[in-house]
Amino acid sequence: MAVVSLINADRLWTRLMALAEIGATPAGGVNRQALSDGEIAAWRSVIGWAQEAGLRAATDAAGNLFLTLAGRDRAAPPVLVGSHLDSQPTGGKFDGAAGVMAALEVVVSLAERGQTPERDVIVVAWMNEEGCRFAPGMMGSEVFTGVRGIEAIRAVRDASGISVGEALDRLHAAFADLPRKPLGFAAAAYLELHIEQGPLLEAADRTIGVVTGIQGKKTFQVVIAGAEGHAGTLPQQERRDAVAAFARMAAALHAEIGGIDAEIKFTIGRITVEPNAPSVVPSRVTFSIDLRYPDNGVLDVTGARVAALCHRQAPPCAVTITPLVEAPSNDFEPRLRERIARAAHDQGLPAMAILSAAGHDARHLAKVCPAAMIFIPCRDGASHVEHEWAEPAHIAAGASVLARVLRDLAFSDQSCAAEA
Ligand SMILES: [Zn+2]
Repeated sequence: MAVVSLINADRLWTRLMALAEIGATPAGGVNRQALSDGEIAAWRSVIGWAQEAGLRAATDAAGNLFLTLAGRDRAAPPVLVGSHLDSQPTGGKFDGAAGVMAALEVVVSLAERGQTPERDVIVVAWMNEEGCRFAPGMMGSEVFTGVRGIEAIRAVRDASGISVGEALDRLHAAFADLPRKPLGFAAAAYLELHIEQGPLLEAADRTIGVVTGIQGKKTFQVVIAGAEGHAGTLPQQERRDAVAAFARMAAALHAEIGGIDAEIKFTIGRITVEPNAPSVVPSRVTFSIDLRYPDNGVLDVTGARVAALCHRQAPPCAVTITPLVEAPSNDFEPRLRERIARAAHDQGLPAMAILSAAGHDARHLAKVCPAAMIFIPCRDGASHVEHEWAEPAHIAAGASVLARVLRDLAFSDQSCAAEA
């Protein structure tokens, strides 16, 4: 069958299921949080499978795992392909793991056929994508791409007081024989296969999602300051009622921001009122805004309008707006997207363009090299749950598309960076 000709689909599935045993939960999910004993055990299995095929394992100071198939030109920037091995505490078998295991299967298959790429091909598992034990996530890819410094992530502690630094030292002690790569190195391209974590591919009956980008996100904290007063005696026109100001703001924001178009995601998710007493005019309201949009320009303009609307509706109260998260949207490399679409088409796999509503390590890699993602369906769009499920045929199809694109990139003696 053409779909699986570049990989061994049965081995991929068997190994993915074996990996899911590490940190398996009674309800069929996976609890394999970042830098835990489970992740160390997962590293042992994955490194073992890679070394069997002659790949060389290495790590870096940020606890990223690299498995290299050496190319002809060792000095040329490598192609990176992978995802993450950590999970949510009640996560599934596929989020992250499917991408790492598909990448490994593709590269192991190349090695077994005795094929030497023009440049190194490196399977990568990024440290702490999920951001559950240590928040926020995507630490490995953020340090690799210079978004955060290694000292900043080493200082982060989990709920029991263990720091990322201590956990990283423990990981490195468990793999003392692994060489260390420098923190961040030039890459020719980055590819990541991932389950969609949403319902669109399944609804459209498509096997391959050609990911156009990851939608941007801004969050704000808004504080409205009014004045307390007696609910029975203070004349209405003299009040500086923070809840009244909030009601005007929320109505205006929902109408004028939330109503822009179908692609906008606008949420006021948390509201606190002070003093929160039935017979006291409220003096203070604090609320959160979560704003997401695929287009960065629109997101910026919309973010600015949030502030303007709040200021317009505030009087006679005062308002302060504090931006918290600023994660711009990104577009994946158009020529890599085209290669993915072509690879799917050539193999008779139904594909569609799709925007990622969730964040991924590829968002950061896209800042330093051409990057792209391949989505495959997951049942009912469910992810970060123990019953998360992807069909073996879809895993095989995604890996097969990955294999085709990787072959295009790694067996070209031109620079992918210049070409892509
Ligand atoms: Zn993931």
